[in-house]
Formats: sequence, C-alpha cells, structure tokens
Amino acid sequence: MKYYSTNREVDETSLKEAVLKGLADDKGLYMPETIGKLPQSFFDNLGNLSLQEIAFEVSKLYVDGEIPDNELKALVDDVMSFEIPVVNVEKNLNTLELFHGPTLAFKDVGARFTSRLMGYFLKDDDREIRILVATSGDTGGAVASGFFNVPNISVTILYPKGKVSDIQEKQLTTFGGNIEAVEIEGTFDDCQRLVKEAFLDKEITDKINLSSSNSINIARLIPQSFYYYYAYGQLSKEDRAKGVVFSICSGNFGHITAGLMAKRTGLPIDKLVAATNINDMVPQYLETGVYNARPSSETISNAMDVGDPSNFKRMMDLYDGSHEAISKDITGCSYTDEQTREVMREVYARTSYVLDPHGAIGYMGLRDYLGDDDKVGIFFETAHPAKFLDVVEETLDTKIDIPQPLKDVMDKEKVSTVLSTNYADFKAFLLR
Ligand SMILES: *Cc1c(COP(=O)(O)O)cnc(C)c1O
Repeated sequence: MKYYSTNREVDETSLKEAVLKGLADDKGLYMPETIGKLPQSFFDNLGNLSLQEIAFEVSKLYVDGEIPDNELKALVDDVMSFEIPVVNVEKNLNTLELFHGPTLAFKDVGARFTSRLMGYFLKDDDREIRILVATSGDTGGAVASGFFNVPNISVTILYPKGKVSDIQEKQLTTFGGNIEAVEIEGTFDDCQRLVKEAFLDKEITDKINLSSSNSINIARLIPQSFYYYYAYGQLSKEDRAKGVVFSICSGNFGHITAGLMAKRTGLPIDKLVAATNINDMVPQYLETGVYNARPSSETISNAMDVGDPSNFKRMMDLYDGSHEAISKDITGCSYTDEQTREVMREVYARTSYVLDPHGAIGYMGLRDYLGDDDKVGIFFETAHPAKFLDVVEETLDTKIDIPQPLKDVMDKEKVSTVLSTNYADFKAFLLR
C-alpha cells in the first residue's frame, strides 16, 4: 500500500516512512492510496470476533504485507489488550467506553499502536527517533505510557505550566527513562508553536529525527477504526437492521475520520454525528459549506478545544472536497458548557450513568440526531470521568471513585524541566 500526502507535492511512500515521519515534507497529511473493501462474510461474522481479531483483519488492509502476519497479529494483540465495552445508557442510546486503557483515555489506543508500529519499523533500521508532542493534558499521558521503554525512541512532551490537571500532570511527568516532560511558562498554543518551530528548524532536523504522535500521524487513525467494527458487532441483528448511528465528540477530528474510513471499507454506518463544544468550525462547515478556522475557545471539554482541526483535510480528501458528498455521511452539532453540565446532571439523575464532559457532548449529538427515530445509536465515552474530577464532581455534586491506576500515579514523583516560551531556550534544550 502506498501512502500519499494530502498536499500532493511529494512522492507516495510506504507505511513505514509515513509513520516514522508523521508529517509529509510538503506539510500534508498521509493517507492510504486506496481503502479496500472487507468481505461480506467478515461483517456477517462480526459479533463472533474479538476486538483483537477485528484489529488484525482491519489492520491488514492498511499494512498490506509490510509487516508479516504473525508479527502484525502479535502487535495488535498487545495494543488492544484492554476491554472496550458497549454499555446501554438508556433506550436506543448506547455508549462505547473507550477509557479502560492504561491512562483511562481513548488516546491510549492510538498511542499504543503508533509506538508499537514505530518500534517495529525501527528494529531493522539504525535511526533513532525523537517524538515531540505538545499537550493540553490528555495526549501527553497516553503518549508517555504508549512509548515508555520502546527501543530507539525518546519522547519530549511539552505542556503549559499550571494549566493541566494534577492527575494529567502526574501521568506525563512520572515515567522517566525515555520520556521527558517540559513545562512551558505559557499556554498550550505556546507549546504547539515551539514544537512547530522545531520541526521547521534545519539545524535541529539535521541532527535529530523528529516525529509526531498526535493525530496528524496516520498510525493514530488506523487503530481508531477498529472499535467501530467491534461496537457494531456487539449490537443484536434486530438493532443493526434498524440502522446504526455513531456520535463522536470531536476536536482534531481524527476519531471521526477513522469512522469514515471504516464506512469506506463497507461497515454499514447509517450516519456519523460530529459533535463539538463551541469550537464548531466543522459543524458550521457541514451546515453552510464554508470552512473558517479561528482561534480556539476554552471549554470544560478541553481536549476538544481546537480551532483548526488538522484532520479536516483528510475528511475533505475522502470526499474529493465535495460538501454534498460528505454531508450525506456526516452531520454536525455543537453545544455550550452550560448544556454539557445540564445533560451530565440529567443523565446522572435519570440513569446514574456518569458522563464526562466530552462523552456528554457525544450523548447530546446522538440524542438530538435520533429524536424519536427507531434507529440505534452509539456515542463514544472518550475519557474516564475521574480524569476531569473537578468539573464532574462539582457538576453532579457527588464524589467520583478514582480508579486504581490514577491513584497509583498520584503517589509518584514529578520530574520535569521548566522553560520559558522563548524558542532559543527550547532549541538549546533539544540540542544539549
Ligand atoms: C482527543 C480527545 C477527543 C477528540 O478526539 P479527536 O480525534 O481529536 O477529534 C475527545 N475526547 C477526549 C477525552 C480526548 O482526549
């Protein structure tokens, strides 16, 4: 399988190069040249397949022989080694709980797959790779956990000092080894700017092979499609026949792009709902056909505070830029913090299900799209509510149980380097 850049100014390349580079030299995003169809027998049998079996079959489409089957099987078995259950919240509204991985966020799936894939590709290669990642909170922990102890890879995580939660900070500053954390005396935007400048700085890229592990890397997207098939397979035959709708709380739109790719392989998804907080550039586009990026606004679902979602390019590419075509598959909607808190309270009172602020937006998107329809819906719960403890406890006026992995990390000691927002300081740090 060849991978092309969405800017189409560089040659197509292998999965290996697409994954190790992250971003193409023309600054485009890599996409598979073709997305094959899976056979009908695979879909008929989905309910009998484990998550790991599905992951293997789907990843073969994208890996296309670049990794021998036995090694690919071992790799996806290791990546998908935690549960992703479908839970009925009420009536035809189900949730896919994606927060049972090591850092209790759905980004574990993508980060683990990316790290294992890079580790595999570097085995017969003398390159060493440095992952640079800016985080507003959630990505950092998943990347640290995913890449910890992967040979030939080191990771530098930048985060805004004092602007991530205590739990999130501990999750990214307590690994040591090949993982280092840098606190920037500024905002998330400053962190992102420093990372971008480093990628463009030839004095750095001549010495260090930089790569990325956020959702610009195609390796993050591939595994995020696995559980669409799995969730679909968990539904009864009767429910599937009614039509299945997925609602995805979206920020950088990697998650929903993976769903579009799954649909392209033949998974019978009736509709995908792109649900956002007030950073609603994509829902606006879906409604009007006009895309306007703008600076992000802060919300209580902060992992989705993105003003110019990088995967929008990929979404458009999948539909050859046609607003009409993409609108057939996706619909958009957006919600305020007030609506988010309100629905968290309502659902908790009615069902005792605890939504986190991100999942709550997915819930609303699904509820409003389905209305009185008989279709069946699945929304994604992307983080454990305890990861957003202050907001959830304050909103629901109750105490949340903190899962053991989060308690364990709180007892560990933080190690980090504090740097200013000055690029020269960061560059000297990288080249030290
Ligand atoms: C990253 C993230 C999202 C958004 O996913 P995208 O692929 O960026 O759209 C939603 N919820 C949580 C908790 C996240 O960490």
